[in-house]
Amino acid sequence: MDDQRGNLMIEHNDDAFQQLQSVAKEKFVEEFGIDPFWMVSAPSRVNLIGEHIDYCDGFVLPLAINRHIVIAAAPNGTSQANMVSTLFPGEPAVVMVDEDPVMGEPRWANYIRGVLDGFRLKDLWPLPGFDAVVHSNIPLGAGLSSSAAIEVALATLVEGLLGIEINPKNKALLCQRAEQKFAGVPCGIMDQFVSVFAQPDHVVLIDCRSQQAQPIPLADTSVAVIIADTKIQHELSDGSYANRRKQTEIALMILGKDSWREVSMADLEEAKGEMSEVVFQRARHVITEIERTQKAAMAIARGKMDEVGGLMRASHLSLRDDFEVSCRELDIMVEGAWHIGEAGGVLGSRMTGAGFGGSTVTLARAEQAESVMEAMSRNYKQETGIEPHIFSTKAVGGAELSDLL
Ligand code: ADP
Ligand code: MG
Repeated sequence: MDDQRGNLMIEHNDDAFQQLQSVAKEKFVEEFGIDPFWMVSAPSRVNLIGEHIDYCDGFVLPLAINRHIVIAAAPNGTSQANMVSTLFPGEPAVVMVDEDPVMGEPRWANYIRGVLDGFRLKDLWPLPGFDAVVHSNIPLGAGLSSSAAIEVALATLVEGLLGIEINPKNKALLCQRAEQKFAGVPCGIMDQFVSVFAQPDHVVLIDCRSQQAQPIPLADTSVAVIIADTKIQHELSDGSYANRRKQTEIALMILGKDSWREVSMADLEEAKGEMSEVVFQRARHVITEIERTQKAAMAIARGKMDEVGGLMRASHLSLRDDFEVSCRELDIMVEGAWHIGEAGGVLGSRMTGAGFGGSTVTLARAEQAESVMEAMSRNYKQETGIEPHIFSTKAVGGAELSDLL
C-alpha cells in the first residue's frame, strides 16, 4: 500500500499495482455481472534524460513507472465495445467494432477509437465485441502520459481478443497514430514505445531517428526514481514549444545538414558567425543533449550512477540557459535536490518534459528516497508556498496481458 502523508507518496512494494487490478476486477463484476476474462496493464513513464531532442533526430531515455492504466475485460458476443472508466463515472462509451471508428463523445474514448482504427487498417477487422472497465492510478496533469498508457493497454487487450501478438514496434506506432489522428496531438514516439518495450529494472534508449527501442539494464538496481510535480503550468508553454522547434530547424538549415546526428560542436563553432546568439544556444543544447543521452545510457549499463547524475545536472543547466525552457519553480525543485547531494542520497536531478512547469526527475539511493522526498518537499514549499506532489518509483516492465480463466 502507498503510505500517503500529505502529498508525499512513499511506495513500499507492489501492493499499489495489485490493488489497482482488484478494483478494476470488482468494478467489472459490478458493471457487467460476470468475472473478467482478461486483465491488461500498461505503465506511464518519465524521461530520465534527452529533452527537446526527440524532434531533432535525437535519443530519449525514459523508464516505465509504477503508475498504470489497467483494463479488466471479457468478450460479449456482440459487435460493440462497451467501456466504462472509473475516471469518468457517468460517461460510458459504446464503440462499434464492425464500423469505421470516428471521433465522438465521450472524448476519453477517442483514444480507444483511434487504437481500434489501427487494427482496422491492419485488416484485423471486424473485431469481436467486448465489455471493459478502465482504471488508473496515474496522476492527472503531471505529464506522465496516461494517454499513451490507455492506448497501449487497449492495443494489448485487442491482441488478447484476437489471440495474436503484433510486432511490438508496429503496436507502439499504431498507438502513436491513434493519438495523432484521434486526439489531435502531434506526439513523438517516446511514450508509446516505453509503455510497450519497458522491462523491470531497465531504462529504454529510444533512437528517434531509426525508431528503435533498446532496453538498457540498470546495473545498479539500488536506485529509486523520484518524480516531483511542481504543480505549475505556465501559459507560454504552447507557443514557446513551437518557437523552439522552429529555432532548431533554422539552425539545422544554416548548418546545411540533413540531420542533427551529423552535426558536431566543431561544425557549430564554424557556423557561429552565420546565426544569432539565440539560435546558436538552441543548437548547442541539441548537440550536447544528444551526446549526454548516449553517455547516460552507457553509464547506466556500467552502474556509474555518479556519471549519470553529472549528465542530468548538465542537461538541466543546458535546458535552463541554452534552451530556456525551465522556470523558477523547476529550478527551485532541482536545486533543492542538488543541495541534498550524494551524502543525502541524491545522485542526480533535472527538469523533465517540455518545461515551463511540470515535473522534475531525481535519481536517489532507494534506502534514502524517503528522506530525500521529505527534504525536497520542505524546501520547495518554503521557497514557493506551493505543496508539491512527490512520489518514488522503480523502473517497471511494459504492457502485459493476463488470462484470468
Ligand atoms: P497525459 O500527459 O496524462 O498523457 P493527455 O492530455 O495526453 O495527458 O491525456 C489525458 C487523457 O487521456 C484524458 O483526458 C483522457 O481522455 C485519457 N485518459 C487518461 N487516463 C484515463 C482513464 N483512466 N480513463 C479514461 N481515459 C483516460
Ligand atoms: Mg498524453
